Amino acid sequence: MSETFDCVIVGGGPGGLTAAIYAIRAGLKTVIVEKLGVGGQIALSDIIENYPGFPSLSGGELMKHFEEHAVGLGAEIRYTDVTAIVADGDRRIVKTSSGDLAAKAVIVTTGAEPKKLGFAGETEFTGRGVSTCATCDGPFYKKKPVAVIGGGDTAVKEAIYLSKLCSEVHVVHRRDRFRAEKVLQERIGARENVTVHWSHQPVEVLGDDAGVTGLRIKNVDGGAVTDLSVWGVFVFVGIRPNTGFVECEKDGQGFIVTDENMMTSLPGVFAAGDCRVTPLRQVATAVGDAAIAAVKAEEYVSELEGRAYEGAK
Ligand code: NAP
Repeated sequence: MSETFDCVIVGGGPGGLTAAIYAIRAGLKTVIVEKLGVGGQIALSDIIENYPGFPSLSGGELMKHFEEHAVGLGAEIRYTDVTAIVADGDRRIVKTSSGDLAAKAVIVTTGAEPKKLGFAGETEFTGRGVSTCATCDGPFYKKKPVAVIGGGDTAVKEAIYLSKLCSEVHVVHRRDRFRAEKVLQERIGARENVTVHWSHQPVEVLGDDAGVTGLRIKNVDGGAVTDLSVWGVFVFVGIRPNTGFVECEKDGQGFIVTDENMMTSLPGVFAAGDCRVTPLRQVATAVGDAAIAAVKAEEYVSELEGRAYEGAK
């Protein structure tokens, strides 16, 4: 017989911790199931400047506040991998590597992980010079030249961070303008050791047994090839949702479709934050989604219990 909860929250990032705060305060017996460590991708961000109430702090510090708040209210966090969510009558069974958990409602807040591009050497040199985390790996390249691929918020933000550690940052972007927010564009424009290679794509990581020695890039218009002399290559070309374990309606990229109550096409299963189809992926929006999801999950559970009570009469 599986352990039974009112609400199982899958994922312990900003959305999951917020959902736990709301669910516990609403009186739901709740557990968070997290694969690795709480905090999610944002915990790897060196600086957050747009979360209200905290003008400037690291992602790790912000997530520590979230965790302390949730745990202070009694949130239980279990570290295991969720493999599937299946329906069993009114119950939802969350299958994990360490057994099944039964829930009246489930909130999926599993976020997304960095995409790969697929150029030569990208996989081969991952962990030996190719990285998707500047905070984790940037310090290995102090006073050394590096390349950053991409032109979104993550690429530009991380390029600015790296420009404070590294001797030179070569940003390789496939178009002639960034999609990153204006303030980040202005900041990167002011960094003297950043060179942007507009309209270029990476072709191949150059290296040997000791690691990366360069990056070959190609102009997307004329096809001219340039070799950059770099020690590290940071790839920030978007994100892929961690949603493979749940079968519900998703968009073409795997992001979960929800209604305005954050309910997925699987009744009783809600989704919040970066893993769902949304026009904006920020800590602030994950928090808003999660608050709605938890409140609507509580209503859903109350309705289920009301039906069971009616049935017992
Ligand atoms: P993103 O906004 O999707 O940007 C991905 C970047 O990679 C784009 O510049 C894109 O180029 C480029 N790209 C995609 N596929 C490519 C390919 N095949 N070859 C070469 N380049 C490719 O992803 P993100 O920057 O990881 O951000 C994800 C979400 O988190 C966004 O909603 C973002 O706003 C949010 N975020 C916010 C902050 C913040 O502090 N406010 C920080 C980080 C992330 P094109 O521009 O040409 O499409």
